[in-house]
Amino acid sequence: MDHQIVDHRGPEFAQLTREILPMMRELVKSKDAHVILYPSSGTGAWQAALSNVLSPGDRVLVAETGQFSNAWADLAEKLGIEADLIPGDWRTGADPDEIARRLRADGGHKIAAVMVLHNETSTGITSRLGDVREAIDATGHPALFLVDTVSSLASIDYRHDEWKVDVMVGGSQKGLMLPPGMGINIVSRKALEASKKSRFPRSYFDWQAIIEANLEGFYPYTPPTSLLYGLRESLKMMLREEGIANTFARHARLAEATRRAVRGWGLEILPRDPREFSNTLTPVVMPDGVDSDKVRAVILDRFDVSLGIGLGRVKGKIFRIGHLGSLNETMLAGVLCAVQMGLRLSGVNAGNGIEPALEYLANPEREAVLV
Ligand code: PLP
Repeated sequence: MDHQIVDHRGPEFAQLTREILPMMRELVKSKDAHVILYPSSGTGAWQAALSNVLSPGDRVLVAETGQFSNAWADLAEKLGIEADLIPGDWRTGADPDEIARRLRADGGHKIAAVMVLHNETSTGITSRLGDVREAIDATGHPALFLVDTVSSLASIDYRHDEWKVDVMVGGSQKGLMLPPGMGINIVSRKALEASKKSRFPRSYFDWQAIIEANLEGFYPYTPPTSLLYGLRESLKMMLREEGIANTFARHARLAEATRRAVRGWGLEILPRDPREFSNTLTPVVMPDGVDSDKVRAVILDRFDVSLGIGLGRVKGKIFRIGHLGSLNETMLAGVLCAVQMGLRLSGVNAGNGIEPALEYLANPEREAVLV
């Protein structure tokens, strides 16, 4: 990223765009989806997804999986979209059967889109998108499928074409190993058609202008040039050097080791269904009477390790160990040691729970449980 800023209407920049867009398609396993990059955070890409394909007064179905699913539903409501939340317990992912039931009950096809978070960052739940897609297909309902991959992109396998996702929402700051500041939409042909009928006024986030400028390798306004240099490099690291299957396997391995440590400490993981355990973060439930924020503060102060806070309904009840992006076994082992020491200092009798995690990381049979 430490590259001089080039003229974003010059040939060197056009070359950058021409290298990045196909690699992004390769990352999300799509042949011909449009890759739209904005100078924005993930929230901008949320808004862009909705305002390009929906219209004020539309209805959408949102699977509640935690704080971020609800925040996306709130954003929809603020835009004048009616968001029907499928209530969740914050311990399970999007329920394909319930989504199908709601769609079947919608004989008049009033529901314009189904919105699901691939990975819910607040609760460490990875929803089964393939099963959700099958459930939607089984109903024959034409709703668009909108998916947030902010905390799964480039870390957990995602199949844009196979799952017939219409708009994917992503951001630069997690699995892509970049600083914050770039929002992403991956757009299907069906979504592009829908965007032509959308009645939302839009300008900055309008896909059409971006797609047209991209044809020449450019953007309609100043792009986040440094982030794009970084993106080209991170895509090459994963697609050409590590190999994306290995990137996913590394995340699966580190996540499994983390879960083994949590069990070793005698503690519980928030998600209930092993099919939905996240490979990018692990939420750890505190024993009764222990405030997770106090444990986090001890671990930060004493060991300089920052853990994720419990958000919304689970505030004070969980902390989250993030294990995504540029991370290897040694770094994770250091984090798990810090957590174990912090638990002990906080009066939680965690024993030597990291032992099974280290055992697992050192054992070649680990390969057997990968993706
Ligand atoms: N979606 C998910 C799953 C997230 O985890 C986040 C933020 O962490 C967002 C959306 C919002 O992204 P941003 O904070 O970049 O606006």
